[in-house]
Amino acid sequence: MKNDDYRFYFVSIVSTLSIAFVSLLNYASPLNSYRRTGIGRHRVGKKIRALSLLSGGLDSLLAVRMLEEQGIEVVGLTFTTPFFGSENAEDAAKEMKIPIRIVDISDEHLAMVKNPPHGRGKNMNPCIDCHAMMVRKAGEIAVTEGFDIVATGEVLNERPMSQNRRSLDTVAKNSGCSEILLRPLSARLLDSTKPEREGLIDRSRLGAISGRSRKPQMELAKKYGIVHYIQPAGGCLLTDPAFSKRLEVLLHDLPEAGCDDVELLKLGRFFRFENGVKAIVGRNEKNNQKIEALPESLGALLISDVLPGPAAIVLSPKSIRDVNLVASICATYADHGGSEVPIKIRYGGRTWSELVSPVEKESFLNFLI
Ligand code: SF4
Repeated sequence: MKNDDYRFYFVSIVSTLSIAFVSLLNYASPLNSYRRTGIGRHRVGKKIRALSLLSGGLDSLLAVRMLEEQGIEVVGLTFTTPFFGSENAEDAAKEMKIPIRIVDISDEHLAMVKNPPHGRGKNMNPCIDCHAMMVRKAGEIAVTEGFDIVATGEVLNERPMSQNRRSLDTVAKNSGCSEILLRPLSARLLDSTKPEREGLIDRSRLGAISGRSRKPQMELAKKYGIVHYIQPAGGCLLTDPAFSKRLEVLLHDLPEAGCDDVELLKLGRFFRFENGVKAIVGRNEKNNQKIEALPESLGALLISDVLPGPAAIVLSPKSIRDVNLVASICATYADHGGSEVPIKIRYGGRTWSELVSPVEKESFLNFLI
């Protein structure tokens, strides 16, 4: 072989080895540990997965779409408590065509509602601690099941109390998963997270939304073709002033109240009399059916024997006078043209029927909460 031939083979071998070496470095580097393919963003051999808190509100839906836009596989996560259910999130997941996980956190959530470390909003809503609890739960699931990202629809400064910079930091700090907690809608205004630093997601394509104006979200909704969503905080009873008042009274009188006690507050008009005895009087047929199915151990059950007429429960009455008072309230709401109303009463192991006269509403409305 001539000298030129040797030189040619030597250069070829060196360049082949160099290319292989650079490829190997690229392959192993954490910054390049994903690859874009036609169907999504991947770590080597594994699709990037995000667990995204889903309420059914627009922000949570936009967060999902922003992740999906980068080829990330998204699973929705929602929670149930006595104060909100999963229906809105389930509808949203169906519409967004993503799987959804539903977790019941009733007891733990009620314990937090009774004593929220970071206080409440305008009503009984402890939004900072509620968010932190949800994100913490999401973090636990993410770690156990190998999700790369925990995402939320939180927007910087959208709500003065619960979504300012400090509150977002508090939620992150208390979540136990701050490193992988991503808020796609405001990400570029917040500190970068591990998935961004490792290149699992492209920070430059995430949002920089801040403030209370909903204009940027509306534009994004248009872009993503999102039409159906619930209003912010829609569906959370803790933001309802009337329900909050009832809950406040319940927790004041019965600090050890459990989820079943809270459920009673949803069954109709809630009365608390001077002696502390409480009663629930149904507003509609659905309320009445639920009241009639309550266990006898709760107190006295009253059922109007005329239709339409409410059912009522007197919780732990102190005497038959409490029962009679609520019977007259039932007779009044039965609105039977001013005449006496037959009421069936179940109390103290007995059941009987009585004709009860209606009274002036003014005589009991100040007990209505
Ligand atoms: S509005 Fe209700 S569900 Fe939403 S964070 Fe506040 S307390 Fe929790």
